[in-house]
Amino acid sequence: MKVNRLKDLQTLVSLCKRRGFVFQSSEIYGGLNSCWDYGPLGSQYKLNVKMAWWKAMTRRSDIVGLDASILMHPQVWKSSGHVDGFSDPLVDCKKCRSRFREDQALKNGVVTCPNCGSTDITEARSFNLMFKTHMGPVEDEGAVVYLRPETAQGIYVNFENVATSARKKIPFGIAQIGKSFRNEITPGNFIFRTREFEQMEMQFFVKPGTDEEWFETWKETRWSYYKTLGVDMDKLRFHQHGENELAHYAKAAFDIEYEFPFGWQELEGIHNRSDFDLTQHQKFSGKKLEYFDEANKERFLPFVVETAAGCDRMALALLCDAYREEVSTLDNGKEDVRVVLGLKPVLAPYKVAVLPLSKKPQLQDLANTLREGLSEEWNVDYDDAASIGKRYRRQDEIGTPLCVTVDFDSLEDNCVTIRHRDSMNQDRIAMDQLKNYIFDQLNTAF
Ligand code: ATP
Repeated sequence: MKVNRLKDLQTLVSLCKRRGFVFQSSEIYGGLNSCWDYGPLGSQYKLNVKMAWWKAMTRRSDIVGLDASILMHPQVWKSSGHVDGFSDPLVDCKKCRSRFREDQALKNGVVTCPNCGSTDITEARSFNLMFKTHMGPVEDEGAVVYLRPETAQGIYVNFENVATSARKKIPFGIAQIGKSFRNEITPGNFIFRTREFEQMEMQFFVKPGTDEEWFETWKETRWSYYKTLGVDMDKLRFHQHGENELAHYAKAAFDIEYEFPFGWQELEGIHNRSDFDLTQHQKFSGKKLEYFDEANKERFLPFVVETAAGCDRMALALLCDAYREEVSTLDNGKEDVRVVLGLKPVLAPYKVAVLPLSKKPQLQDLANTLREGLSEEWNVDYDDAASIGKRYRRQDEIGTPLCVTVDFDSLEDNCVTIRHRDSMNQDRIAMDQLKNYIFDQLNTAF
């Protein structure tokens, strides 16, 4: 048997559409560029991606959660530097008139149009990526607010509230998942770069002088996170930001990059933001944001180590990583391709599928009773259409780790067949042992 990994993004885009993971936004109107909707399977899958991250972060005693609003006081974005500095270099191709980001179009050091290959390009202008809107019924300059371009600022402005109410002592972190918006010059590659997206960000507040050590710790912690999610570690690498790549707030930055079918790209960033943000907010709000360390009777502005991941981007990387085609030759000489999403069970939209072997009422009744019982613990699919082989394949393609097949013998022996996604092995299990067996399998066998 030959195993093929995902070769091109289009294969995954088609699967996502066909099986209800991701649809183009407003498709019946021709779609809206770079906006995507998560379908029945995709919404559950994305929730699982977020929950896995949320658990890894907030089930530690030194991190708490937050859910700040998207619209914030406009001064926040002046203080943070986003009004003046959150921009990308925009250039136009003089030949074909396409617009793109200068830094993303460098070919052997020369800015080259990604559309027509011309090197006759305009001077770069700086283009602010923040979406502007108006608050309330008056559309004047005084009513301008921004859709947040990152979730982090909601954390900084709540630093004092959280530290006091949660009685947290430094070092501690605040984690948040939420939508962000960037008016990207060149969105693309499906859900990789969009103008509306979700972020999973954690800001870890530490004593100045301990920031470099914490930076290393978080680099390691985030690297091993991908191991626990079963990612092929050969497809991950660190990329250190050089002097001219560093964001305005950063003292040091590393990206974790993934090798997507369209090349190595950033998946998440780990940044040492120093005390830049708290200093700015303290200065412009006039509120003291210093932390008082009781033990040493010291007052200081904490440094921040940030881990910033994109939820949609992570969802895409994990799908790319999980996709495989198992190619074998059948007895009649024909080629058979089994498409499998080898997702870890925590990420799979359905953990179990219940499949009655036929549509006979006795089997349907028993299968439905089983489905109800299992649904108390897991998200369970039910499918009684087409041959059992076809149904197994449908479940393989959406990553369901286990199928439970109810057949005529089940009515006599009170057993069902469990079929495993990865090995395709089958076990016969007593129905009263089913839940324990599934618990065990989902926790240990993948
Ligand atoms: P890039 O260089 O790719 O534009 P960035 O360095 O500006 O990204 P950060 O500001 O560090 O990104 O954002 C943290 C994470 O948020 C990124 O690693 C990425 O996963 C995600 N992210 C950022 N911009 C987008 C976007 N336009 N669409 C989807 N995810 C995004």
